[in-house]
Amino acid sequence: GSTIGILGGGQLGRMLSVAAARLGFRTHIFEPSPNPPAADVAHAVTTAPYEDEAALRAFAASVDVITYEFENIPTSALDLLEALKPLHPNRRALAVSQDRLEEKGFLTGLGLAVAPYRPVGSREDLEAAIHGIGTPAILKTTRLGYDGKGQARLMEPDDAAEAFAAMGGQPAVLEGFVRFTHEVSVIAARGRDGSVAVYEPGENVHLSGILHTTTVPARLTASQRTDAVLLAGRILNALDYVGVMGVELFVTPEALLVNEIAPRVHNSGHWTQNGCAVDQFEQHIRAVTGWPLGDGSRFADVEMENLIGHDVARVPALALEKHTAIHLYGKAEARPGRKMGHVNRILRPVTGA
Ligand code: ATP
Ligand code: MG
Ligand code: MG
Repeated sequence: GSTIGILGGGQLGRMLSVAAARLGFRTHIFEPSPNPPAADVAHAVTTAPYEDEAALRAFAASVDVITYEFENIPTSALDLLEALKPLHPNRRALAVSQDRLEEKGFLTGLGLAVAPYRPVGSREDLEAAIHGIGTPAILKTTRLGYDGKGQARLMEPDDAAEAFAAMGGQPAVLEGFVRFTHEVSVIAARGRDGSVAVYEPGENVHLSGILHTTTVPARLTASQRTDAVLLAGRILNALDYVGVMGVELFVTPEALLVNEIAPRVHNSGHWTQNGCAVDQFEQHIRAVTGWPLGDGSRFADVEMENLIGHDVARVPALALEKHTAIHLYGKAEARPGRKMGHVNRILRPVTGA
């Protein structure tokens, strides 16, 4: 069997490694921090910074294809790796999703709707952006944000100074606050042959900027569901994408707005582990190794709940719940805000599936 190199050794890398092993592949994890969650289940682990050229070269030499579970990989490392082995998803997909301004430019270029936004590089830019967009609004660093980090909310124009300071001098983007009724996401995959498979959209609830639950099916009309699936397919095709992508959407009565895209398996796709024959992790492994994609159909309604920080203390009780699958990431320390695991509750079977 061949070996898949994975940049990043968090829980996503761990679950990708488990899926890869099921298909007879080996995984080699490249991760700067020691003892990452994926280390328990991967065939090999390289612990080195992304600046270590020799380590990157040795990693590339030991694998047949390279993918990633984390989008903030330094450009220099990607330049080096891409010249040595096939990299999926490709550089453009990564570049677009690493930078919120590029991402919004790409999405609007496809004719997709996003929240009103303005680039903010200075205090003056911020004043002009507030003038154009109004408040409430959200100021976000263009790069490196996740789980709501690197964001500041402006309830009124007077909040500008504090919000600007919170960016720590990094380039930012001001977004108008979207009065969505709810949030959904589409987990979609594209194979090396250009075929696309899309999972049913899930409805996402966030607490303090962190995903709390995903419920499938989402509350969407038939035409919204079609729009969501088609727009995901357009994004994948436009990027000549290979692998699984998460597309986060705001639902308003008028439109579906794209919040952001993630060029990797996505937390809001964890429900597929217990609702589908081929889950998002296997789907991603299939895509990057050139296997045919699974069809993405589901056989159950599912609720995924993240176990954050001390939520793991509930595991003994959760283990007594009927029709509930528990997934733990093997992290020793339950720090606040840290994703420790998740549960998938099978709510009911899909009749006729
Ligand atoms: P992730 O962990 O999903 O990568 P992130 O740090 O990139 O998170 P966003 O997805 O941009 O952050 O925002 C986190 C959450 O904050 C969104 O899911 C949504 O609930 C809320 N939010 C973000 N932008 C807006 C907006 N323009 N209007 C209203 N709510 C927003
Ligand atoms: Mg994000
Ligand atoms: Mg998000």
